[in-house]
Amino acid sequence: MDGFLSSFDGRGAVITGGASGIGLATAAEFARRGASVVLADIDQASLEQAVARLRADGFTAHGVRCDVRHLDEVVHLADEAFELLGHVDVVFSNAGVVIAGPLTEMTHDDWRWVIDIDLWGNIHAVEAFLPKLLEQGTGGHIAFTASFAGLVPNVGLGTYGVAKYGVVGLAETLAREVKANGIGVSVLCPMVIETPLVSNSERIRSAGPEAASTAEATGAVGSLPSQDDSMTVDDVARLTADAIVANRLYVLPHSAARQSIRRRFERIDRTFDEQAAEGWKH
Ligand code: NAD
Repeated sequence: MDGFLSSFDGRGAVITGGASGIGLATAAEFARRGASVVLADIDQASLEQAVARLRADGFTAHGVRCDVRHLDEVVHLADEAFELLGHVDVVFSNAGVVIAGPLTEMTHDDWRWVIDIDLWGNIHAVEAFLPKLLEQGTGGHIAFTASFAGLVPNVGLGTYGVAKYGVVGLAETLAREVKANGIGVSVLCPMVIETPLVSNSERIRSAGPEAASTAEATGAVGSLPSQDDSMTVDDVARLTADAIVANRLYVLPHSAARQSIRRRFERIDRTFDEQAAEGWKH
Protein backbone atom coordinates (compact mmCIF):
# COMPACT_ATOMS: atom_id res chain seq x y z
CA MET A 1 0.00 0.00 0.00
CA ASP A 2 1.29 3.45 -0.92
CA GLY A 3 1.27 6.58 1.16
CA PHE A 4 1.31 7.30 4.86
CA LEU A 5 2.19 4.34 7.04
CA SER A 6 -0.86 2.53 8.38
CA SER A 7 1.04 -0.23 10.18
CA PHE A 8 4.55 -1.60 10.68
CA ASP A 9 3.64 -5.06 9.44
CA GLY A 10 5.99 -6.15 6.65
CA ARG A 11 7.73 -2.76 6.62
CA GLY A 12 11.45 -2.01 6.54
CA ALA A 13 12.77 0.38 9.18
CA VAL A 14 16.17 1.99 9.76
CA ILE A 15 17.08 3.35 13.18
CA THR A 16 20.23 5.43 13.80
CA GLY A 17 21.62 5.35 17.31
CA GLY A 18 19.89 1.96 17.33
CA ALA A 19 22.36 0.17 19.59
CA SER A 20 21.15 1.72 22.84
CA GLY A 21 18.48 3.63 24.72
CA ILE A 22 15.55 5.16 22.83
CA GLY A 23 16.79 3.87 19.46
CA LEU A 24 17.05 0.23 20.52
CA ALA A 25 13.73 0.28 22.40
CA THR A 26 12.01 1.83 19.38
CA ALA A 27 13.61 -0.66 16.98
CA ALA A 28 12.30 -3.49 19.19
CA GLU A 29 8.83 -1.89 19.19
CA PHE A 30 8.86 -1.58 15.37
CA ALA A 31 9.96 -5.24 15.16
CA ARG A 32 7.24 -6.37 17.60
CA ARG A 33 4.74 -4.66 15.29
CA GLY A 34 6.03 -6.68 12.33
CA ALA A 35 8.84 -4.58 10.82
CA SER A 36 12.27 -5.79 9.73
CA VAL A 37 14.91 -3.46 11.08
CA VAL A 38 18.37 -2.16 10.31
CA LEU A 39 20.13 -0.70 13.32
CA ALA A 40 22.90 1.82 12.68
CA ASP A 41 25.35 3.03 15.29
CA ILE A 42 28.89 4.28 15.74
CA ASP A 43 29.44 1.76 18.55
CA GLN A 44 30.21 -1.56 16.83
CA ALA A 45 30.22 -3.74 19.98
CA SER A 46 26.87 -2.43 21.27
CA LEU A 47 25.47 -2.70 17.76
CA GLU A 48 26.35 -6.38 17.52
CA GLN A 49 24.83 -7.06 20.95
CA ALA A 50 21.64 -5.19 20.05
CA VAL A 51 21.22 -7.06 16.77
CA ALA A 52 21.86 -10.40 18.53
CA ARG A 53 19.26 -9.51 21.18
CA LEU A 54 16.60 -8.71 18.57
CA ARG A 55 17.40 -11.86 16.59
CA ALA A 56 17.22 -13.95 19.77
CA ASP A 57 13.69 -12.59 20.21
CA GLY A 58 12.87 -13.92 16.74
CA PHE A 59 12.96 -10.60 14.87
CA THR A 60 14.62 -9.81 11.52
CA ALA A 61 17.41 -7.41 12.41
CA HIS A 62 20.65 -6.25 10.79
CA GLY A 63 23.40 -3.92 11.94
CA VAL A 64 25.34 -1.38 9.89
CA ARG A 65 28.12 0.60 11.53
CA CYS A 66 27.69 4.26 10.70
CA ASP A 67 28.98 7.56 12.04
CA VAL A 68 26.19 10.00 11.21
CA ARG A 69 28.67 12.89 11.13
CA HIS A 70 29.79 11.73 7.70
CA LEU A 71 27.42 11.97 4.74
CA ASP A 72 29.20 9.18 2.85
CA GLU A 73 28.62 6.79 5.78
CA VAL A 74 24.92 7.64 5.93
CA VAL A 75 24.62 7.22 2.15
CA HIS A 76 26.32 3.82 2.57
CA LEU A 77 23.81 3.00 5.34
CA ALA A 78 20.93 3.86 3.01
CA ASP A 79 22.38 1.68 0.21
CA GLU A 80 22.89 -1.23 2.64
CA ALA A 81 19.43 -0.85 4.17
CA PHE A 82 17.65 -0.93 0.81
CA GLU A 83 19.79 -3.94 -0.17
CA LEU A 84 19.15 -5.84 3.09
CA LEU A 85 15.45 -5.05 3.46
CA GLY A 86 14.40 -4.72 -0.18
CA HIS A 87 12.47 -1.56 0.72
CA VAL A 88 12.71 1.07 3.43
CA ASP A 89 9.48 2.56 4.73
CA VAL A 90 10.53 4.13 8.04
CA VAL A 91 13.66 6.09 8.88
CA PHE A 92 14.16 6.97 12.54
CA SER A 93 17.04 9.44 12.74
CA ASN A 94 17.77 9.27 16.44
CA ALA A 95 21.54 9.11 17.06
CA GLY A 96 22.68 11.82 19.41
CA VAL A 97 25.06 12.99 22.11
CA VAL A 98 24.97 15.69 24.75
CA ILE A 99 27.35 18.18 26.28
CA ALA A 100 26.12 20.14 29.27
CA GLY A 101 27.57 23.35 30.60
CA PRO A 102 27.13 27.10 30.25
CA LEU A 103 27.71 28.64 26.83
CA THR A 104 30.62 30.69 28.22
CA GLU A 105 32.47 27.40 28.83
CA MET A 106 31.83 25.80 25.45
CA THR A 107 34.89 25.47 23.25
CA HIS A 108 34.77 25.67 19.48
CA ASP A 109 35.34 21.90 19.39
CA ASP A 110 32.39 21.36 21.75
CA TRP A 111 30.14 23.28 19.34
CA ARG A 112 31.44 21.44 16.29
CA TRP A 113 31.08 18.01 17.87
CA VAL A 114 27.49 18.50 19.05
CA ILE A 115 26.31 20.21 15.86
CA ASP A 116 28.05 17.59 13.68
CA ILE A 117 26.19 14.73 15.36
CA ASP A 118 22.94 16.24 16.64
CA LEU A 119 22.16 18.49 13.67
CA TRP A 120 24.23 17.36 10.68
CA GLY A 121 23.51 13.70 11.52
CA ASN A 122 19.82 14.39 10.92
CA ILE A 123 20.43 16.48 7.80
CA HIS A 124 22.54 13.61 6.44
CA ALA A 125 19.65 11.21 7.06
CA VAL A 126 17.41 13.43 4.93
CA GLU A 127 20.07 13.82 2.23
CA ALA A 128 20.74 10.07 2.08
CA PHE A 129 17.25 8.61 2.47
CA LEU A 130 14.76 11.12 1.06
CA PRO A 131 15.79 10.79 -2.62
CA LYS A 132 15.52 7.00 -2.28
CA LEU A 133 12.12 7.16 -0.58
CA LEU A 134 10.87 9.50 -3.31
CA GLU A 135 12.26 7.22 -6.00
CA GLN A 136 10.68 4.20 -4.31
CA GLY A 137 7.40 6.10 -4.59
CA THR A 138 5.48 4.27 -1.87
CA GLY A 139 5.39 6.96 0.81
CA GLY A 140 6.65 6.12 4.27
CA HIS A 141 7.76 8.00 7.36
CA ILE A 142 10.80 9.92 8.58
CA ALA A 143 11.04 10.46 12.34
CA PHE A 144 13.71 12.43 14.20
CA THR A 145 14.71 12.56 17.83
CA ALA A 146 15.08 16.16 18.95
CA SER A 147 14.41 17.01 22.61
CA PHE A 148 12.44 19.20 24.98
CA ALA A 149 15.61 21.31 24.62
CA GLY A 150 14.63 21.77 20.96
CA LEU A 151 11.38 23.51 21.92
CA VAL A 152 12.35 25.77 24.83
CA PRO A 153 15.67 27.09 26.12
CA ASN A 154 17.31 24.86 28.73
CA VAL A 155 19.96 26.61 30.81
CA GLY A 156 23.17 24.57 30.64
CA LEU A 157 22.21 22.84 27.39
CA GLY A 158 22.90 25.67 24.93
CA THR A 159 24.94 23.82 22.30
CA TYR A 160 22.60 20.84 22.43
CA GLY A 161 19.57 23.13 22.26
CA VAL A 162 20.85 24.92 19.16
CA ALA A 163 21.23 21.57 17.40
CA LYS A 164 17.87 20.26 18.60
CA TYR A 165 15.98 23.47 17.64
CA GLY A 166 17.45 22.86 14.20
CA VAL A 167 16.11 19.31 14.17
CA VAL A 168 12.62 20.55 15.09
CA GLY A 169 12.81 23.12 12.27
CA LEU A 170 13.99 20.44 9.85
CA ALA A 171 11.10 18.14 10.77
CA GLU A 172 8.47 20.89 10.67
CA THR A 173 9.54 22.07 7.21
CA LEU A 174 10.04 18.58 5.82
CA ALA A 175 6.56 17.55 7.00
CA ARG A 176 5.01 20.24 4.82
CA GLU A 177 7.24 19.59 1.83
CA VAL A 178 6.82 15.79 1.55
CA LYS A 179 3.17 15.48 2.55
CA ALA A 180 2.12 15.34 -1.11
CA ASN A 181 4.42 12.33 -1.55
CA GLY A 182 2.68 10.36 1.19
CA ILE A 183 5.70 10.68 3.47
CA GLY A 184 4.89 11.51 7.08
CA VAL A 185 7.29 13.22 9.48
CA SER A 186 7.52 13.13 13.27
CA VAL A 187 9.84 14.73 15.80
CA LEU A 188 10.28 13.23 19.25
CA CYS A 189 10.90 15.82 22.00
CA PRO A 190 11.35 14.10 25.36
CA MET A 191 12.44 15.56 28.67
CA VAL A 192 14.87 13.35 30.63
CA ILE A 193 14.57 9.60 29.98
CA GLU A 194 16.81 7.15 31.78
CA THR A 195 19.39 5.98 29.21
CA PRO A 196 23.21 5.87 29.09
CA LEU A 197 23.20 9.10 27.00
CA VAL A 198 25.66 11.02 29.20
CA SER A 199 28.13 8.14 29.71
CA ASN A 200 27.89 7.11 26.04
CA SER A 201 28.54 10.72 24.98
CA GLU A 202 31.64 10.91 27.17
CA ARG A 203 32.93 7.58 25.90
CA ILE A 204 32.31 8.36 22.22
CA ARG A 205 33.92 11.78 22.53
CA SER A 206 37.01 10.53 24.31
CA ALA A 207 37.45 7.73 21.76
CA GLY A 208 37.58 10.20 18.86
CA PRO A 209 40.25 12.62 17.72
CA GLU A 210 38.26 15.46 19.26
CA ALA A 211 38.87 14.10 22.79
CA ALA A 212 38.63 17.16 24.95
CA SER A 213 36.58 18.63 27.72
CA THR A 214 33.42 16.51 27.58
CA ALA A 215 34.06 14.71 30.83
CA GLU A 216 34.04 17.84 32.90
CA ALA A 217 31.38 19.49 30.73
CA THR A 218 28.70 16.85 31.22
CA GLY A 219 27.89 18.15 34.65
CA ALA A 220 24.71 19.53 36.11
CA VAL A 221 22.10 20.95 33.79
CA GLY A 222 20.31 24.10 34.88
CA SER A 223 16.80 24.02 36.27
CA LEU A 224 14.44 21.74 34.39
CA PRO A 225 10.75 21.60 35.28
CA SER A 226 10.02 18.59 37.46
CA GLN A 227 8.74 15.75 35.36
CA ASP A 228 7.25 12.29 35.49
CA ASP A 229 10.27 10.00 35.96
CA SER A 230 8.22 6.86 35.45
CA MET A 231 8.33 7.33 31.66
CA THR A 232 10.65 4.62 30.32
CA VAL A 233 12.35 4.09 26.96
CA ASP A 234 9.73 1.43 26.23
CA ASP A 235 6.93 3.95 26.81
CA VAL A 236 8.70 6.43 24.52
CA ALA A 237 9.12 3.69 21.90
CA ARG A 238 5.40 2.86 21.97
CA LEU A 239 4.40 6.52 21.79
CA THR A 240 6.77 7.06 18.84
CA ALA A 241 5.44 4.05 16.95
CA ASP A 242 1.85 5.21 17.61
CA ALA A 243 2.73 8.74 16.42
CA ILE A 244 4.17 7.35 13.17
CA VAL A 245 1.01 5.36 12.42
CA ALA A 246 -1.14 8.39 13.34
CA ASN A 247 1.18 10.61 11.26
CA ARG A 248 1.54 12.97 14.23
CA LEU A 249 4.25 15.61 13.84
CA TYR A 250 5.15 16.19 17.49
CA VAL A 251 5.84 13.32 19.89
CA LEU A 252 5.72 14.73 23.43
CA PRO A 253 6.14 12.08 26.13
CA HIS A 254 6.18 14.45 29.13
CA SER A 255 3.16 16.59 30.00
CA ALA A 256 5.44 18.55 32.37
CA ALA A 257 6.87 20.14 29.20
CA ARG A 258 3.55 21.74 28.36
CA GLN A 259 3.74 24.82 30.62
CA SER A 260 7.24 25.79 29.47
CA ILE A 261 6.30 25.45 25.80
CA ARG A 262 3.17 27.54 26.35
CA ARG A 263 5.16 30.21 28.21
CA ARG A 264 7.62 30.51 25.33
CA PHE A 265 4.85 31.13 22.82
CA GLU A 266 3.01 33.50 25.17
CA ARG A 267 6.19 35.51 25.56
CA ILE A 268 6.61 35.75 21.80
CA ASP A 269 2.94 36.71 21.41
CA ARG A 270 3.12 39.31 24.20
CA THR A 271 5.96 41.07 22.42
CA PHE A 272 3.54 42.29 19.73
CA ASP A 273 1.35 43.88 22.46
CA GLU A 274 4.35 45.47 24.19
CA GLN A 275 5.59 46.93 20.90
CA ALA A 276 2.09 48.20 20.04
CA ALA A 277 1.82 49.79 23.50
CA GLU A 278 5.08 51.62 22.82
CA GLY A 279 3.62 53.01 19.58
CA TRP A 280 4.96 50.55 17.02
CA LYS A 281 2.23 50.18 14.40
CA HIS A 282 3.76 47.58 12.05
P1 NAD B 1 21.95 6.52 24.13
O1 NAD B 1 23.35 6.96 24.37
O2 NAD B 1 21.46 5.34 24.85
O3 NAD B 1 21.71 6.30 22.56
C1 NAD B 1 22.34 7.13 21.59
C2 NAD B 1 23.02 6.23 20.56
O4 NAD B 1 23.56 7.07 19.54
C3 NAD B 1 24.19 5.43 21.15
O5 NAD B 1 24.04 4.05 20.85
C4 NAD B 1 25.40 6.03 20.49
O6 NAD B 1 26.45 5.10 20.29
C5 NAD B 1 24.82 6.53 19.17
N1 NAD B 1 25.65 7.57 18.54
C6 NAD B 1 26.26 8.62 19.15
N2 NAD B 1 26.97 9.31 18.25
C7 NAD B 1 26.78 8.69 17.06
C8 NAD B 1 27.27 8.94 15.74
N3 NAD B 1 28.11 9.96 15.49
N4 NAD B 1 26.84 8.14 14.74
C9 NAD B 1 26.03 7.09 15.00
N5 NAD B 1 25.57 6.78 16.23
C10 NAD B 1 25.95 7.58 17.23
O7 NAD B 1 21.05 7.79 24.47
P2 NAD B 1 19.48 8.08 24.21
O8 NAD B 1 19.03 8.85 25.39
O9 NAD B 1 18.76 6.87 23.79
O10 NAD B 1 19.59 9.11 22.99
C11 NAD B 1 18.85 8.94 21.80
C12 NAD B 1 18.41 10.31 21.32
O11 NAD B 1 17.49 10.85 22.28
C13 NAD B 1 19.53 11.34 21.19
O12 NAD B 1 19.33 12.09 20.00
C14 NAD B 1 19.32 12.23 22.40
O13 NAD B 1 19.81 13.54 22.19
C15 NAD B 1 17.82 12.20 22.52
N6 NAD B 1 17.25 12.59 23.82
C16 NAD B 1 17.54 11.87 24.93
C17 NAD B 1 16.99 12.26 26.14
C18 NAD B 1 17.29 11.50 27.40
O14 NAD B 1 17.02 12.05 28.48
N7 NAD B 1 17.80 10.29 27.34
C19 NAD B 1 16.16 13.38 26.22
C20 NAD B 1 15.89 14.09 25.06
C21 NAD B 1 16.43 13.68 23.86
